[in-house]
Amino acid sequence: MLSYTTQDIPNTALVGQSGAGKTTLAEALLYRAGAIQNQGTIERGDTVCDFEPQEHTYQHTLNSSLAWFEKDSVHVNLLDTPGLADFFGRAFSVLQAVETAAVVINAEAGIEPAAVTMMEHAKEDELCRLIIVNKIDAGRDKLESLVADIRELFGAECLPLNLPSANGDKVTDCFFRPEGDETLFSSVAEAHTTILDQVVEVDEALMELYLEQGEELDPAQLHDPFEKALREGHLVPICFVSATTGTGIDQLLNVMTKLMPDPTEGNPPHFQKGEGDNAKPVTISTEPDAHAIAHVFKVTNDPFRGRLGVFRVHQGTITPNTQLFIGDARKPFKVSHLYQLQGKEQMEMNQAVPGDICAVARVEEIFRDAVLHDSHDEDNFHLQPESFPMPLFGLALIPQNRSDDQKLSDALHKLESEDPCIKVEHDTQANETVIRGLGDLHLRVILEQLEERYNVHVDTKPPSIPYRETISASAEGHHRHKKQTGGAGQFGEVYLRVAPLARGEGFQFIDEVKGGVIPGALIPAVEKGVLQALADGVIAGYPIQDIQVTVYDGKFHSVDSKEIAFVTAGRKAFETALEQARPVILEPMVEIRITVAGEMVGDITADLSTRRGRVSSTDTGSGGRMVINGLVPLAELDDYSSRLKSMTGGEGSYEIAFSHYDPVPHDIQKRLASEYQRAESSEG
Ligand code: GDP
Repeated sequence: MLSYTTQDIPNTALVGQSGAGKTTLAEALLYRAGAIQNQGTIERGDTVCDFEPQEHTYQHTLNSSLAWFEKDSVHVNLLDTPGLADFFGRAFSVLQAVETAAVVINAEAGIEPAAVTMMEHAKEDELCRLIIVNKIDAGRDKLESLVADIRELFGAECLPLNLPSANGDKVTDCFFRPEGDETLFSSVAEAHTTILDQVVEVDEALMELYLEQGEELDPAQLHDPFEKALREGHLVPICFVSATTGTGIDQLLNVMTKLMPDPTEGNPPHFQKGEGDNAKPVTISTEPDAHAIAHVFKVTNDPFRGRLGVFRVHQGTITPNTQLFIGDARKPFKVSHLYQLQGKEQMEMNQAVPGDICAVARVEEIFRDAVLHDSHDEDNFHLQPESFPMPLFGLALIPQNRSDDQKLSDALHKLESEDPCIKVEHDTQANETVIRGLGDLHLRVILEQLEERYNVHVDTKPPSIPYRETISASAEGHHRHKKQTGGAGQFGEVYLRVAPLARGEGFQFIDEVKGGVIPGALIPAVEKGVLQALADGVIAGYPIQDIQVTVYDGKFHSVDSKEIAFVTAGRKAFETALEQARPVILEPMVEIRITVAGEMVGDITADLSTRRGRVSSTDTGSGGRMVINGLVPLAELDDYSSRLKSMTGGEGSYEIAFSHYDPVPHDIQKRLASEYQRAESSEG
């Protein structure tokens, strides 16, 4: 029987730059808390959290993983996450399962880009944040200036809870005690006062007591305002550790178990009922007796052990007898075995209370982001969607063995289910299976899994670019569809106008028909016809976007006006309007961020301009490297990773993120249109 309740489960995700020491830190915490007998290392490949063979080969965390320890009757669920930008989708998903994002910063390297991304992302998600400065053994001279950098970049609410002392070989608490050892910089008394000042600001009564009566407050009095300050982002504590020497680990364990929020103290998760614009916020409770509601934030597939769905219970209690619905499914599944995860180890548990994180195996219908619940009252529940980076690096895959088509498709869908930033598309136009991810390494890892896990071997080539079409002027369209074939005829007449919308606004359909000249019941048929033509494009077969279509007049016949007649009339009227509306082809533009050695900047920017790119800024990054930011058409980046490798001798790296769609230059539009016409006429 489990001994802990919801109030004893502070769920914490370790996030931040790859190499900051998250996995090693998780290991140190587990070891010191007595959850494991030996402290593993990255170099030996025997840590609890990096247990996949691929993680040993790359010596990097590639997947999120769950571990737990108990100290002083508090059960801490610890989630280790990848810090490489290519795997951010897997790291961001984990933030949906925790109260606290602990951003790990490498004292030697300073604040690196992933720490900035994670601080921002966690703030957007309204998570409590904790900054852990790791590797203080290696970066002891830099700690004082690092704290100044952290406060300048992330705000003055970032304050040390403890400080390095004894020349960096010890860490001294500054919260629970008002004075202590001599510290490397600042002093215990100063840090203690500063943090108390910050905390009492969220509680007026306490502030009065503290300021006017000059009373020393005890930690119990401070607990609630401390949680409130964390929830409101009014306080972001900083702790110091060395995961390899163990310095500061005891103090961090204390912070995690005594100060960081439990599920009743963190900001509540944003659940909604309904889809899209109709979704309404719903409040859930952390009562163990309420209906069960859980959210699946991670899915893995093992060819032998089946699918594993990892979820956080948000409300109610789940036991091995619970029947759970997945999303809107009518039929429930029976949990039967409920697992607690310690890295790859699965241990049976007899119940999961609100706030706990656990898993079920071999339920193939489970998907990432599904809400599990035990009553149809909670059908249509969702957690507010996370904003994930858009996967833009694409590869078209060709199975080496033609008969592997189905095997490839099944395996890709399994891999897609594990990572929100892997998208598998079938480009019907080019008849290609395309996989998209966040970078070279991301796709390489997926292709290796395809071979090793599913024994599917593929050749790759650059995929077709996801061009779109739009219009640049307003126009009118009209079509009268009339067909008399023996018995009942078909009749439908539609007048409509099209107008360009701002970039990114998609498609709007407006019904301005007056006096029922087209009956309301047949308007959806007109829209259906419009949508058919929308998908087929008008210049080169690409889907049309950013367009408004207004139907304003027409005619119907009480006997012959069937749905099909208005689908045809709608499509043809729309096609006529499109031809007059000066259509153009749009191409995806991406923001590019290239990191190279300083002397390469000239060559890189010159190369970018031959690719129709524009540099927007050049900044100094960490380690004296330069960071070039710019905007470039995705179509110009086909060979960019090999080009950058050859220009920089393999040391340069880059990231891209979707920015917006822009019209292509005229010559490219002409080329794409004629290629399309050639392909169409050769098909027949
Ligand atoms: P992650 O990518 O953030 O999970 O970082 P890892 O845990 O994989 O650590 C990256 C490297 O830093 C490994 O070689 C670790 O041994 C090393 N490392 C981690 N923590 C410390 C530390 O406190 N001090 C020192 N000197 N090295 C550390």
